[in-house]
Amino acid sequence: MNNKPVDMLRNLPSVEEIIQNDQLSGLFTKYPRNIIVNTVRSVLQNNRQHILNGNCTAMTKEELREKILLEVKIKIAKSSNAKLRRVINATGVIIHTNLGRSLLSESSIRAVNKAASGFINVELNLNSGKRGSRYSPLENLIIELTGAESALVVNNNAAAVLLALGTLAKNKEVIISRGQLVEIGGSFRIPDVMVQSGALMVEVGTTNKTHPEDYKRAINDNTALILNVHTSNYRIVGFTRETSIEELALIGREANIPVMSDLGSGSLIDLRSFNLPYEPTAGEVLRAGADVVTFSGDKLLGGPQAGIIAGKRELIEKMKKNPLTRAIRIDKFTVAALEATLMEYRNSNEVISKIPTLNMLSITKTDLYPVARTLKDRLTNLKLPGINFNLIETVSRVGGGSLPTAELPSLAIEICLENEEISALATRLRLGSPAVMGRIQDGKLILDMRTVQPDEIDTLFEAIKNSYLPDRKD
Ligand SMILES: *Cc1c(COP(=O)(O)O)cnc(C)c1O
Repeated sequence: MNNKPVDMLRNLPSVEEIIQNDQLSGLFTKYPRNIIVNTVRSVLQNNRQHILNGNCTAMTKEELREKILLEVKIKIAKSSNAKLRRVINATGVIIHTNLGRSLLSESSIRAVNKAASGFINVELNLNSGKRGSRYSPLENLIIELTGAESALVVNNNAAAVLLALGTLAKNKEVIISRGQLVEIGGSFRIPDVMVQSGALMVEVGTTNKTHPEDYKRAINDNTALILNVHTSNYRIVGFTRETSIEELALIGREANIPVMSDLGSGSLIDLRSFNLPYEPTAGEVLRAGADVVTFSGDKLLGGPQAGIIAGKRELIEKMKKNPLTRAIRIDKFTVAALEATLMEYRNSNEVISKIPTLNMLSITKTDLYPVARTLKDRLTNLKLPGINFNLIETVSRVGGGSLPTAELPSLAIEICLENEEISALATRLRLGSPAVMGRIQDGKLILDMRTVQPDEIDTLFEAIKNSYLPDRKD
């Protein structure tokens, strides 16, 4: 049959013909009419384009109508599936921003559930019956855990930095080392945040070396703040010199200028116990003399997305009064989840097992071996032709722009295909439900077991089994 575009175009049904078709009548009770009409239009338009491009096999009028009806039904069904899907994180990146960063602790999950399913006293003082502060329960915990005089929590750390700069240094100068002009990703760049806040950035030193004298020389009557930014996601190594918080605090005190440190991840516990590089905790940085610190709630802290600001009462009080604080305030779920997360830190013996992010950081290869070995054996026992499973050693990453040089020895299931591109299998796994995210390395798919949760192992096994396509010949 000859399928000249013009002939085929004549066979295309009208929007009305499709909508009137009995096959779609059931849809009108489930979906709004305009959604159905728009879907029909879009399917017809796609088919018209296909025909014009000459990528359409010859079809009778009836065949084409049936094809279009089927496409409409599939498209509408797909549009009503939630786009947010559970993902099994087999990337080995613990704090994965694209996958939502930290998993919450059991107690945090319960707290969020409580906040979601009933009314809660998020801004009510139950003793007085009057309006209360949504920050006070969190504030007390942060004070207790960091030794700060006062604290405030906002939507994320980017907002915390913006609020601090806008409050303490609007139209005034902020001194920062050229080695710390960080870009975090998602277009958070220190120089841009500075502009947004209304502060005037004064860069000192060089990329690799900034001395105390560089800061001292830059101080003038219009200086409002000395800013230290954690170079979260990169390291400058070699011939280097940064001015320490202790040194900055001395300079600040002499000139009566506050010192702020944006810690980025801001751990509350010493990470050396996980064989990770030393990072000063928020409390240590405050004790070293910083007047204000800011850090994320969902990076190394292992809680919900939030930006924590802790430090001198006088400075925090000013920030609380800034109208911007209302615009970047946290919701009740964050209050609930963060309160529960911070409570876990009161019990330092248990915190590592309770907070998933810390737990994933602390797991060793030996811990992972039994689970990884069992999964590998179960997969091998399926005896699927053309696919091989190996247990291999690999290296996990902390992620989230934290500890960029840290390498965590880990175990992974390696999948090799004999007759198919590995990316095809990776795509099928990614499009499954739950989705599975691994990483491709040297033509193999690596599923790092460190970030797969214990209760996800069976689901992962099924997902891999289901992603296998039998009868595949070259
Ligand atoms: C991650 C990070 C931020 C941004 O924090 P969010 O909580 O993602 O908004 C800001 N500063 C530094 C140094 C960071 O590492």
